[in-house]
This record gives sequence, C-alpha cells and structure tokens, in this order.
Amino acid sequence: MTKKVVLVTGGSRGIGRSIALMASSEGWAVGVNYTSDSKAADEVVAKIKAGGGEAIAVKADVSKETDVIAMFDEVTNKLGALTGYVGNAGINLPRSNLVDMTAERMTRIFSVNTIGAYICVREAARRMGVSQGGKGGVIVNVSSVAARMGSPNEYVDYAGSKAAIDAMTLGLSKELGPDGIRVNAVRPGLIETEIHIAAGDPDRVARSASAIPLGRAGSPDEVAQAVVWLLSDKASYVNGALVDVGGGR
Ligand code: NAP
Repeated sequence: MTKKVVLVTGGSRGIGRSIALMASSEGWAVGVNYTSDSKAADEVVAKIKAGGGEAIAVKADVSKETDVIAMFDEVTNKLGALTGYVGNAGINLPRSNLVDMTAERMTRIFSVNTIGAYICVREAARRMGVSQGGKGGVIVNVSSVAARMGSPNEYVDYAGSKAAIDAMTLGLSKELGPDGIRVNAVRPGLIETEIHIAAGDPDRVARSASAIPLGRAGSPDEVAQAVVWLLSDKASYVNGALVDVGGGR
C-alpha cells in the first residue's frame, strides 16, 4: 500500500493544527509547517508521535519561494513521496476600509495568502503529478467564505486573496485531474482561532457569532473534518469542489 504523506502549511496552530492531528489519526505521515512559533509546531509533532504517528515540523515562510522548495524537499526526504497537500497557512490584518489601506498591507496579504499558496501548490503538483514522476495525490486548499461575501468594511483585501484560491482550485481541478491529482477547497466561516487576535480583533467571534444561522462560531476540528474527508478515498470522485464550513453564513 502506498504510504500516505501530507504536508499541512500552517499546521502548528488553529485550523492547521486540527488538520495535522486528524490526518495523523487517519494514517497520514504529516509535515507540520510553521513560520515563527516552533514551540507550537513541536507540540503538534510530539502529540502525533505520542499517538503512534509520524510527523516532522518544517519551518518555512510560504511567501518565500526558496523556503517553500526547501520545505517540500525536507518533507519528501524525511517522510517519503508526497501524496497529499493542505494549503492552510494564511494571515489577516486589522479591519479597515479600502480607502485607508496601504499598498504594503495589500502586498503582505496577497504575498502570503495568494502568491504563497500558488507557489506551494505548484511544488505539490511538481511532486505528485503522474506526468512529473509522482504517484498522484490530493490537494486541499483552505479558502474562506470571505471569498464569496467580500468582507466589506473589514478586509476586502483578505477576501480577494481567498477568492483567488477558489479560482485556482477550480482551474487546477481541471488542469491536474488528468495528472492524477484531485484539487478541492474548504471555505471556513467564523472559526475560533488566534487569527482574530493576530488581526487585532479578539472580540470578533463574540461580536459576530449571533449573525450566523447556527448561532455560533465553528471549531477548528469542524473544519478539519471536511479537509480530512477530502484528503481521503471516501472523496475519490470529488474534484473542483468548494466546501463551505460556515454554519450557513
Ligand atoms: P491561525 O490560528 O492564526 O494559524 C495560522 C497558522 O499559519 C500558524 O500555524 C502560522 O504559523 C501559519 N502561518 C502564518 N503565516 C505563515 C507563513 N507566511 N508561512 C507559513 N506559515 C504561516 O489561523 P487559522 O484561523 O487557523 O487560519 C488557518 C487558515 O484558515 C487561514 O488560511 C485562514 O485564512 C483560514 N480561515 C480562517 C478563518 C477563521 O475564522 N479562523 C475563517 C476562514 C478562513 P506561526 O504560528 O509559526 O506563525
């Protein structure tokens, strides 16, 4: 049986952490990427190993091409040929109307969330594509319901950076499907993680939860369930899907 090896970008905290742990429990060897918080990444790796799984922590800034290539090489060399990739790393910045946004801010958001995501998927396709000598595999991108809502008065830049992920997912499902790679995306809604604190809005979940049809924010595990399902053979005929995990938002 082919060994299942998955790289989860931003696998050290929040949604990515849940994905890494859940993927391990489904038999995947996991590359846990992080960019600054090595302690959090090491904790995820230790937890996976304590449960009998295999994992390594890999430091890389997804917006830096040299980091990304080194990250994919390290995962392949230490865990084996890649058969899964989850593009989860992402950032947001403080709420702002477009009229007050600097170009530096927009560049930062798009560098990590979009360009970084594209470079990573390119490296995954170079390694998994059957035409490239790979075994085929699965790509799951973590987008956001912001991609279809637009996030007015908050983060239209972030929303746009995620809309690009949806377009990439749809295009690559057709481009890479014939090469043995399924490509799908999960679009989380409001999820309880530290991203809101990092974006200077720690009260966001409390403030916005009542506007969600299910009346609450989601948990990282609820997003991970969808991602790990898409990674699995249970989703063997799912390609080009954008799966909303947003409580009806
Ligand atoms: P989080 O708790 O802030 O965790 C972010 C993770 O990404 C961390 O592991 C972080 O590593 C990593 N990361 C950040 N910048 C990176 C970079 N340049 N290179 C590599 N890794 C980087 O975020 P989250 O809420 O779990 O979000 C995960 C994904 O879900 C993101 O793409 C986000 O846009 C999306 N999403 C989140 C929500 C939500 O409400 N939480 C909703 C919709 C979509 P370090 O700790 O080392 O920095």
